[in-house]
Amino acid sequence: MRYQSTRGEAPELDFAGVLLAGLAADGGLYMPATWPRFSADELRDLRGLPYPELAARVLAPFTEGSISFADLQTMCARAYAGFTHKAIVPLVQLDTNIYALELFHGPTLAFKDMALQLVGHLFEHVLAERGEKIRIVGATSGDTGSAAIEAVANRENIEITILHPEGKTSEVQRRQMTTVQADNVLNIAVDGNFDDCQDLVKLMFADAPFRTAMNLSAVNSINFARIAAQIPYYVFAALNLGAPEREVAVSVPTGNFGNILAAWAAKQMGVPIARFIVGSNRNDILARFLASNDMSVHGVEPSLSPSMDIQLSSNFERLLYEFLGRDAETLRKTMAAFRSTGKMSVAEPVWRAITQDFVGFRLSDEQTLAEIAQLYRESEYLADPHSIIGITAARELGPIGMPVIAAATAHPAKFPDAIEKAVGFRPALPSHLADLYEREEKFIRSPCDLAAIQDRVRNFAYRNTNV
Ligand SMILES: *Cc1c(COP(=O)(O)O)cnc(C)c1O
Repeated sequence: MRYQSTRGEAPELDFAGVLLAGLAADGGLYMPATWPRFSADELRDLRGLPYPELAARVLAPFTEGSISFADLQTMCARAYAGFTHKAIVPLVQLDTNIYALELFHGPTLAFKDMALQLVGHLFEHVLAERGEKIRIVGATSGDTGSAAIEAVANRENIEITILHPEGKTSEVQRRQMTTVQADNVLNIAVDGNFDDCQDLVKLMFADAPFRTAMNLSAVNSINFARIAAQIPYYVFAALNLGAPEREVAVSVPTGNFGNILAAWAAKQMGVPIARFIVGSNRNDILARFLASNDMSVHGVEPSLSPSMDIQLSSNFERLLYEFLGRDAETLRKTMAAFRSTGKMSVAEPVWRAITQDFVGFRLSDEQTLAEIAQLYRESEYLADPHSIIGITAARELGPIGMPVIAAATAHPAKFPDAIEKAVGFRPALPSHLADLYEREEKFIRSPCDLAAIQDRVRNFAYRNTNV
């Protein structure tokens, strides 16, 4: 498979190239040259397969030319071996036509593990083949940092440095990062907020000599490998609910638009998904766009579902590229105007086409707590503050008579404060994390200053490579 940039001015790459590059050199996002397509018979053949095997078969067309099928099978088996549910991604029925697709049975209890556990293996494989070593640097406000650390801890050819804003992540989130005892992991607690951390990462990448000397790399959700690794669970869920003979809908609590884009990709591959429900909290830029063709940036406000506190959904560019008929020039102009004005609207027929498939939904913090409580009262099902948005959206907007797959993106124990507010008790951590509060933490502190951070990354790199 070849990949092309949404902005049309970067070289085409193969899967391994896209994996290592992340963002395209022209600032765009990589997309497969064509969507692979499964016939109804081919989809039926995937029914009943164990998840890792199904994942390998769904991903094979994307990695073709870079990774052998046998290697891909091995990596999928290893990636999901540590999950604590035998189905990996169980479907739990909540109502006549509503099913929670639980994506949180991985090591860090959030759906980011679904992609990052596999991406860790893919990185290691490609780097070993090329005899290269990379340093991942990233900033986190919560879930991404721990999922990335868990994905690459103790891997030979990768070091990882994660910046988090000191005192501004939840204790569970911080401990999930700082208690990983691996020589290739460096946690830096920055005296600043999340935006400061993200700026520091951007500045490190913009410092070309530093970037080259350190061989910096990123694992953020604009990497197409992460999107690809999220497609198989939609195929799995739809097949379990009667596809390809029966249409389904999906409802996804959305931040950067990566998870729901993967569902849309599953549709391009032949899975009959009739509707895509985009859930938001008070940061509702996508819901506003879908309601009125007005994507205008407001400030980010903190909410009970912090992983969706985003004002720019980077992966939306990928969807727009498709709905513009892959016209890179129009996309470039649209994105440039958006960047300079903070506002975007698209041509009326394009907007209408998007809203035929996608519908937006928004839930306030107050409603979030009320819905968690009500679902618990009705079914004793405890949903986290992200998942409940997708579940509530499914209830209110799901098409009649069709199963709706509501992506459950985090384990409730990850957000004990919100759950306690809603139902009056704190959910227990799963047994593999039960001693999280007793584990030893390892991190260093840094002022919010580029030179100080770069010193720490350099010192860590030289210590580990004995240069
Ligand atoms: C990251 C995250 C989301 C948002 O997913 P996107 O792919 O960025 O849209 C939703 N819920 C949880 C728990 C997350 O960690």
